[in-house]
Amino acid sequence: MSLTLATVTPGEAEIFASLQGEGPSMGRPSTFVRLSRCNLACRWCDTAYTWRFTGDNRPHRDDLAFERTANQIVLDEAEVAARIAALAPDRLVVTGGEPLLQGPALARMVAAVKAARPEMHVEIETNGSVAPVPALDALVDQYNVSPKLAHSGNPADLALVPERLAHWAGEPRAFFKFVVAEPADLAEVAALQAQYAIPGDRLFVMPEGTGSAALRERSKWLAEAALEAGWRFTDRLHIHLYGDTRGT
Ligand code: SF4
Repeated sequence: MSLTLATVTPGEAEIFASLQGEGPSMGRPSTFVRLSRCNLACRWCDTAYTWRFTGDNRPHRDDLAFERTANQIVLDEAEVAARIAALAPDRLVVTGGEPLLQGPALARMVAAVKAARPEMHVEIETNGSVAPVPALDALVDQYNVSPKLAHSGNPADLALVPERLAHWAGEPRAFFKFVVAEPADLAEVAALQAQYAIPGDRLFVMPEGTGSAALRERSKWLAEAALEAGWRFTDRLHIHLYGDTRGT
């Protein structure tokens, strides 16, 4: 009856209150819980400490390997729920890693949070390749789905699962968020939108980057492209406010 979480420092779980930095809820005070482990391996992943443990040599631009015991912590679901319920925000963002890999335990944790705080709005951040278990799905208010494009370095058959993408496209609680690094990535976004009939008001594009300067530079052409295509644009507010740091 436990969840595996990421850590802010060894032994300290990554559960914190902050402003949601991305997507449709950007700027809203939220409690975040970051779960460890991912089924993908993005070259530019900014939370590689959730999956690139010592011995995992899949390509990553920083080429850092993280010691598993210092970067994971296993906590009882009830303990995680109690810590979340004790913080002020009335929104919960479950992020990772890929949170849906721990679906059954996550469902029990979210149920405990909702029992203590019935008003809690629950958002799940996912790479879109894993199905939520029904017990969890029944408790979720919003999915932030971020399918990974070719520039992530993941094989397409792992990152872009047709059955999953079709599901999210037809799910009104799901908002797509595509991370875009180069103008060439835009054709891939447009092709996925056309293939799965993703409504433009549920499709965000977001610049890739872990520093304000890179985000601003990419935002110039990406905002223009969003306007032309009828997509929504999201910045990465937390990077501008706090930099690329854990627990923010
Ligand atoms: S899917 Fe998300 S957590 Fe997993 S490797 Fe990619 S960016 Fe990182």
